[in-house]
Amino acid sequence: MIQEAISLYLEKQGHTLLSPRAVLFDMDGVLFDSMPFHARAWKEVANEHHLISTLEDFYLFEGRTGASTINVLFRRTFGREATEEEKREIYHQKSVRFHTYNNGNPMPGAAEVIAKVKEYALLPVLVTGSGQRKLIDKLQESYPNTFTVDKMVTGDSVKYGKPHPEPYLIGLEKANAAANEAFVIENAPLGVESAVKAGIFTIAVNTGPLPDKVLLDAGAHLLYPNMESLAKDWDNILKEIKNQKG
Ligand code: CA
Repeated sequence: MIQEAISLYLEKQGHTLLSPRAVLFDMDGVLFDSMPFHARAWKEVANEHHLISTLEDFYLFEGRTGASTINVLFRRTFGREATEEEKREIYHQKSVRFHTYNNGNPMPGAAEVIAKVKEYALLPVLVTGSGQRKLIDKLQESYPNTFTVDKMVTGDSVKYGKPHPEPYLIGLEKANAAANEAFVIENAPLGVESAVKAGIFTIAVNTGPLPDKVLLDAGAHLLYPNMESLAKDWDNILKEIKNQKG
């Protein structure tokens, strides 16, 4: 299963080896159990502005910038893009609600994954579309001495955002790694799409309510139901990678 995933990845990308040096982590839904609060905040604000949406939409949009999410809803509801003022106002309202609801809890199992990353001397890099400063600042508290500021790609550092490959390409630059020298850990379909387009071996963790198929269709190379199961299988993944080198 793992071996097959690696072979398929190498074949598609035209690489001969997968030799990871860095692990690129998404944040919401991977390191923090924050997605239910994002989805709730979005849904409430969308309802107030009479924007057509379902709760599930916000898991499908996950990874987009706030402005891009608002535009999708405006096009769907009113057949036009949102104005700059509408985008600013709605995103502000969403952010206020998110911070009211969010409890800042780390994702169960994420600390175990990070412990594995350190055990294997891999470099952890953060790649998030989020510009939520409070949560980014909380990384040091939840995962001490893991993500340094020079190894972070946040919403402020990107022009396009996911599903464009840009955030993960910048992540590779920060890691000083080629595409076949990294892993990505992602929970969102658009995040997986971004990472796969950047040419990186992408491990999806389905920590939300969407069907597995959505993440596999987005191109995930491996899929786990949560971070605990990924941590448990980490040794196996790294063993298969070592085997590949003969
Ligand atoms: Ca995410």
